[in-house]
Amino acid sequence: MKQSVPGVHRVLGGYVNAFVVDSDDGLVLIDAGLPKSESRIVRALSALGRRPDDVRHIIVTHAHPDHMGGLAAMLKATGARCWSHETDADAIEAGVPPPVYAGPGVASRLLFAASRMMRNNLTPARVDHRVRDGDRLPGGLVAIHAPGHSPGQIVLMHPKQRLLFAADCAMNIWGLKLSLLNEDRALAADTAARIAGLDFDRALFGHGGLIDAQAAARFREAFARP
Ligand SMILES: [Zn+2]
Ligand SMILES: [Zn+2]
Repeated sequence: MKQSVPGVHRVLGGYVNAFVVDSDDGLVLIDAGLPKSESRIVRALSALGRRPDDVRHIIVTHAHPDHMGGLAAMLKATGARCWSHETDADAIEAGVPPPVYAGPGVASRLLFAASRMMRNNLTPARVDHRVRDGDRLPGGLVAIHAPGHSPGQIVLMHPKQRLLFAADCAMNIWGLKLSLLNEDRALAADTAARIAGLDFDRALFGHGGLIDAQAAARFREAFARP
């Protein structure tokens, strides 16, 4: 599946994605995968001709095990500064993710069972910068608070590339849908409808493939309210 946008590289794929963005201030890593993902991320960096200490910033979109699992190890390997929304920062520093609940359907219940196991053995990690809605972040990114999936989730706009890093505000695996697990599914639906009103052409996800054209229109079809 195509995952490429100029200046953006996927450094982790499979169950969950992570990306790096090239910037004047070094590489910005977005998310750090499940626990023990660090060696895969470092190998992907090396395939790009980059070293761990080229990563100057790590932005964690939310405090779930599949996004912060490799964070402590990646902070250590890179010496980067860590950014997350102020609402999920305590959960990252405690290594205790906020709760999620299953939605309708068998897949959601199965993932819920798996997620209860993933919650254990998370390594706490330091957050250097507590982000608020609208903050400008390294890499030319703008943070947008996107609660519902997790109380302190942020999605990231990259205006120069007209790109949205959608994190888990939606997934693009079997079409564009809300995530299977959410802290507050109704709020997640409100958030997705609000994000559908933003101005972007492309979207990358925590789970699933790139939408490389007319992404905001796809969000409106999937999530906009009448
Ligand atoms: Zn999540
Ligand atoms: Zn996820």
